Amino acid sequence: MKLDLKILAKKIEKCRLCRLWKSRKKAVPGEGPRNAKVMFIGQAPGKQEDATGKPFVGKAGKFLDMLLNEIGLERRKCFITSVVKCFPPGNRPPKADEAVICVSNYLSKQIKLVNPKLVVLLGKVAQRYVPEHLLSGRIVLKTAHPAAGMRFPKIRRKMKRDFNLLKKLINEIS
Ligand code: URA
Repeated sequence: MKLDLKILAKKIEKCRLCRLWKSRKKAVPGEGPRNAKVMFIGQAPGKQEDATGKPFVGKAGKFLDMLLNEIGLERRKCFITSVVKCFPPGNRPPKADEAVICVSNYLSKQIKLVNPKLVVLLGKVAQRYVPEHLLSGRIVLKTAHPAAGMRFPKIRRKMKRDFNLLKKLINEIS
């Protein structure tokens, strides 16, 4: 990560712009190279992420790793983050104000700095709260959240098809 993303990450770690700072252990800014071609955007950190400060390291993260492995996409080459950067208590979905504050202050800047060619929106929350103007000029793939894919076989099969499409799209842009 280059300096600008690091400064942003430091701000996120200290952020108190919404109520979620009160219950978090660690904020989870996200990780990946400054020039990643592909950005994955999830919903919010879970318990494991809250404990470690790293994105997608729990069960859903392992499932995401498996999907990436299957298409030969290296996780370290991707930028991986979420709509909100702090664990919502009880693992509830983020509230609208939390999502809007976090996207406008942090995710929007991450998208502009990384400038990915391809954005993968993991689940309904990412699909609802990532504004259209940040996606224009990029290839956008909407798929389910890995937490749903790991639970429901039908969703898992759909995600595998979506990741195969992702592989094709990556081959086309590189
Ligand atoms: N789910 C998300 O949306 N993000 C994470 O970082 C972990 C689980």
